[in-house]
Amino acid sequence: MTEGISLTGPQQEAVNHSAGRMRVIACPGSGKTEVIAHRVARLIETGERPGGIVAITFTEKAASELKTRIRRILEKEYPERADFGDMFIGTIHAFCLEMLRDIDPIYRTYDVLDGPRRVAYIAKGENYFGRIGLVRLQKSQESGFFETVAKFIRSADVMITEGIDQGRLTDRRFADCFSNYLHILDEDRYFDFPTIVRRLVDELEKNSGSRLLIAPRTEHIIVDEFQDVDPLQGRLLDLLSVNTRSIAVVGDDDQGIYHWRGTDVHIIREFADESRGGCRDITLGRNFRSTASIVDLSSQFISHNSKRIPKKIEPNPLLTREYEQGDIQTQIFDTQENELDYIVGKIRELHGTDFTDRSNRRYSLSYSDFAVLTRTNDLASMVIDRLDKENIPSVASSGESILERPEVKFAIKCLAYIFNADPILREGGGIPDLRNLVSEYQTVFSREKFAGADAEEFANRMKSVRGKISAIEGKGEDGNDYLPGLGLQEIYHEVLNALGADKFNLGEVYSYNLASLSQAVSDYESVWIRLRASEVKYFFYFLRAYGDSSYQDPRHQDDLLIDAVRIMTIHKAKGLEFPVVFVPDFVDHRRPRELTLFVDKNLYDAARYSGDDEDERRVYYTAITRSEKYLFLTGSSHAPGKVRERKVHRFLQEMPREYFTGIMELVKPRSGLPSRAQVASEFETSYSELTSYMRCPEDFLLRNVYGFNAGVPPAFGYGTNVHNILNMIHREYIRKGIIPGEKEIEETVSRMFKLRYATRNMEKNMEAAAARIIKNYVSIHSNDFSRILETEKRFEFVLGNALISGQIDLLKKLDSNGNITDVEIIDFKAEKKEGIYSSDYDRQLRYYAIACLDSLKLRPQKATVHILDAEEEVDETRDVDISDSSLSSTRQDIAGTVSRIRSKKFPASPDHEKCKECDYMKICPYRAK
Ligand code: SF4
Repeated sequence: MTEGISLTGPQQEAVNHSAGRMRVIACPGSGKTEVIAHRVARLIETGERPGGIVAITFTEKAASELKTRIRRILEKEYPERADFGDMFIGTIHAFCLEMLRDIDPIYRTYDVLDGPRRVAYIAKGENYFGRIGLVRLQKSQESGFFETVAKFIRSADVMITEGIDQGRLTDRRFADCFSNYLHILDEDRYFDFPTIVRRLVDELEKNSGSRLLIAPRTEHIIVDEFQDVDPLQGRLLDLLSVNTRSIAVVGDDDQGIYHWRGTDVHIIREFADESRGGCRDITLGRNFRSTASIVDLSSQFISHNSKRIPKKIEPNPLLTREYEQGDIQTQIFDTQENELDYIVGKIRELHGTDFTDRSNRRYSLSYSDFAVLTRTNDLASMVIDRLDKENIPSVASSGESILERPEVKFAIKCLAYIFNADPILREGGGIPDLRNLVSEYQTVFSREKFAGADAEEFANRMKSVRGKISAIEGKGEDGNDYLPGLGLQEIYHEVLNALGADKFNLGEVYSYNLASLSQAVSDYESVWIRLRASEVKYFFYFLRAYGDSSYQDPRHQDDLLIDAVRIMTIHKAKGLEFPVVFVPDFVDHRRPRELTLFVDKNLYDAARYSGDDEDERRVYYTAITRSEKYLFLTGSSHAPGKVRERKVHRFLQEMPREYFTGIMELVKPRSGLPSRAQVASEFETSYSELTSYMRCPEDFLLRNVYGFNAGVPPAFGYGTNVHNILNMIHREYIRKGIIPGEKEIEETVSRMFKLRYATRNMEKNMEAAAARIIKNYVSIHSNDFSRILETEKRFEFVLGNALISGQIDLLKKLDSNGNITDVEIIDFKAEKKEGIYSSDYDRQLRYYAIACLDSLKLRPQKATVHILDAEEEVDETRDVDISDSSLSSTRQDIAGTVSRIRSKKFPASPDHEKCKECDYMKICPYRAK
């Protein structure tokens, strides 16, 4: 299990379980992830196909950590099976989407709306006022525009998650809107998170063929954090379990903390009920993480919950780290300022002191060993500010809204000026005027900060962009005012250009924050086909309503910055552990909040969503059990700006007092030991990210590090459409040996082809072009289909400490009768490109050749770029050199690139040919002039 500790009996039992149902109750610190990783490795070791194993994790980050652990176990214990590219490890939503795409390729044309994009989609005028008709709900409720959107989303989630029949709703206006919403979502080929799960459940319930189709992918299922599944996800797992050979659920009912999202801890409690068939039930009750005092304190505390799975939790008897007086402190301060002073003081007292880890090795505490766990983002943001002032480094997964940053506010005002709109900032101010903007420019982009800043040039550039928009306002193509060029992102790049982004380096802080605004622009405009100038005003409403919660200061989230205090909400601390944990604002001021919905309360378990004391206790139990030794529960009797006095949290009375002290100075040995070795996570990357760096490191910095988005061309998605259809044709051949005729190809193209950002005419023309080249391809190459081995073959290979993943379009056997380990790699390109792109193509094929050798255990003998360019009526192939020497130099290139990225080296490499094609030419100060 954990280094230096062998598996306990129950852990070994959970690892070895080979068939049937199993529930693993994993108490805090009981080595659950390690057990899951060993279980997966064991399945592979015993000969199970990786492609038949599914591991569902709560987040993508957890998935990535699990992959790393599995790989390490396999590499150590069973190196020849260390490839598991076909195994599914990821979130339940990603799993559902992948299964749906296996069941019906039409789902490849669906896109998933995450939180902000879903809001933008529902709030866009044609949907809000027309297709969904939310405006009628707004009028009936006398609520605001975005309040109505938010309440509608909450209500829709409950409807879908609880499977409520629309016919039972009293509010018929809402029933209509909900029905319209589901209809247009499907018509536009979108999913939101709950509808992905609902669609897969519907497919499996109605169609036994679908169940059989995905059965080979779901022979062994493992679900982590099972206490946080909702009824719909529970139903899905029941359906899947019919055809599985084993299903293992892992979690802890005491740590179920997402009731407000509809999750239900009863599901894990009832999983092992006898009425549901046989189930092996295992409890991992030994806490390897915390001192005996933390284990005892937290166990006594959670025992006040009445509805629990009985379990015995015990500390690790082999741990030499012991409780010392002062380890656990509590204090209520007069003000929050004093509370933050105390936190800073304790970080300084303990930083650099000796500590013993769970394997009894000693090291000295560094900043990354401290965590501040908050209930709200606002508090997290106050803590960040305070630590910043004290020069204590911090990283946060929750933090300050970017909308409060002066450079971001200023960029929003510039956009509003261009569109003659009100930016609707918190402080008001109305439609910006250029004179005021110029004066503000001199403050935000002062010459002291940016030597190249020039207010006059800023004014001229702004006037020029404003002029372009004025020219189309009220007229434009077909009498409309569609934005020129490609859309709002391009105009935002023009604003950044006016600010001087092409003349001087904006620096890290401005770049991160302005890139977050670029993300907001993309989120907003990506749900439109084309934006009109007169519609951009809604973007400012969107930012005002959702900006604070959706776009937070990303500067503090840089994973590469390792040694820093971790600041996060308790909900984000799931699965983590720290030697020192602060839980500030631990005062008695929170009461369960009732959800206000359009759904009648008698149609769902409203109390579950609102939560009660037992839910609240679970949240604090989760926070407390993150601590390995030091725990500081603090609060302040006066919140900033509030008069009412607050009291110490009533939960404190439920914790054994013998472990607590009030404020106490901690004087600990400082032997100058090295700090805890950070386990280097694998750097996960892909061919396209590495190519972005190889083309120009500045491109990589702007795109992948800061996160600036590029505009979306109208033909965006054309290549993906062609790939999807080709894949479908190849797959049908593999499954049934069918080669489609011309008519079938036309029907498939007509069903599958979708361009989101093209006009109808353009889409029709491109669809016809796609049908033409695909028919041509099949007529020329169908004789060769018998050599097809696999289509869209996924891979992952490790090079140094980088994990490179991707997908090969087509693998062909070189000899239809012979040895199938000798293969030809084929990559399709829907566009013929020359120059730098042509060398990109070659590099891509060499990556695939390395993947074949290292991960897929195949011998690539031939690699071919197959160009299917409709515009140039081209169907041509070109061989790529994949000799040993070329692959060896590609390996060196990859290793060098990864090492430069990890050491944050991003020297620009301008070149006329590259720069004129570059997505960032307007905002790059290094471009070839
Ligand atoms: S404009 Fe040129 S120098 Fe700048 S990122 Fe693009 S390719 Fe690199």
